[in-house]
Amino acid sequence: MAKELACRKCKHVTVGKVCSVCKSTDLSPDWSGIALVVDPTTSQIAKTLGITEKGKYALKVT
Ligand SMILES: [Zn+2]
Repeated sequence: MAKELACRKCKHVTVGKVCSVCKSTDLSPDWSGIALVVDPTTSQIAKTLGITEKGKYALKVT
């Protein structure tokens, strides 16, 4: 299983070397918590975290 990395900019969790949401390469292997955003327009978590794309997000990235 590929190691999942969380983007430091938008908190999106990705298995690649580049964030698929904001194209940042500033990814961290040290993250905790998970938020699944299915519909960013109605998700309170998405609003709180400033998420505009659906996907898997870390709650905390260090
Ligand atoms: Zn990102």
